[in-house]
Amino acid sequence: MTVLAATDNAVLVRVENLSVTLAGAVRAVDGIDFQIGHGECVALVGESGCGKTLTALSLLRSLPPGVEKIDCARMEFEGRRIDLMGRSDLRRLRGGQAAMVFQDPTTSFNPLFRIGDQLVETIRAHRKFSRAAATKLAMRCLGEAGLEEAARVFGSYPHQLSGGQRQRAFIAMALSTEPKLLIADEPTTALDVTVQRQIVDLLARLARQRGLSLLLITHNLAVVARLADRVLMMYAGQIVECSTVEELFSAPAHPYSRALIECLPSLERVHSRPPTIPGNVPRPGHWPTGCRFIDRCARAAGGCELPQRLKAIGHGGRLVRCHLAGGLKNRVGGGDESGG
Ligand code: SF4
Repeated sequence: MTVLAATDNAVLVRVENLSVTLAGAVRAVDGIDFQIGHGECVALVGESGCGKTLTALSLLRSLPPGVEKIDCARMEFEGRRIDLMGRSDLRRLRGGQAAMVFQDPTTSFNPLFRIGDQLVETIRAHRKFSRAAATKLAMRCLGEAGLEEAARVFGSYPHQLSGGQRQRAFIAMALSTEPKLLIADEPTTALDVTVQRQIVDLLARLARQRGLSLLLITHNLAVVARLADRVLMMYAGQIVECSTVEELFSAPAHPYSRALIECLPSLERVHSRPPTIPGNVPRPGHWPTGCRFIDRCARAAGGCELPQRLKAIGHGGRLVRCHLAGGLKNRVGGGDESGG
């Protein structure tokens, strides 16, 4: 089995052969392997419907309605088997050792309780703190998350804060339990463009200061470039490329990665329409039998109608699910070797 390895030996999370099945026996995530190292930021990237969020939620064994089951050969957090954990261990893991920040800070908090009360409650659910000690820690975490008026935020209801303040407060709550892993699911998507950059910088600073591992779920390649060490590109329930962030942006190896990067806004194309990838991600249950990208791939040729396996490119642990990978001239903007 292929293992998408962390960049060093200190593995925090190890997932082997993970599949998620929706109601009606429809596969939405299909045999995923990956690892996250201590202090490493791994980005799960792809369009909506590729299976990114289901993959991340599976790590916490916390799946939304409509999911029938998760299967895996092995799922570990610091060497402990998540897939074999009972309820109380899972409770300690969720929000304790592994915390999650969601896309929409408006719905992340309970609107009926003050921000401070929700932080104190979370801290006391995971750590043996008195109310006074938890209050002190909550105030400190709000300050660390860049909320200068921590006392005002502590006493506010969620609706009294701006979107950016709510996201900072939620990050403060996620970090208040001193997790080793932070799962950030599209953490900037619901925010104004000016605030997005501040939140990305905040996550980068906190991850660095705390030696935190990050699993970043996003379709925003600018956020990936700023935060990630390693990228797992997902398409139709599978990982189609695993590379370092430098490899991905300098020479994307899978035609899907390459197409996504070519769609990025560019000053050179300021007077022309940006390129797009034709069509949509096929829905679970409607995946092509061969390469799942075949209907949208400009390079589809003979052999693409067969199922594709991840294959190693070079010697650095880079993996690509395309039989032409390695034979393509992959610099963005360049053609393939046949001139196509
Ligand atoms: Fe495109 Fe063929 Fe590679 Fe699939 S296998 S990504 S269709 S070139």
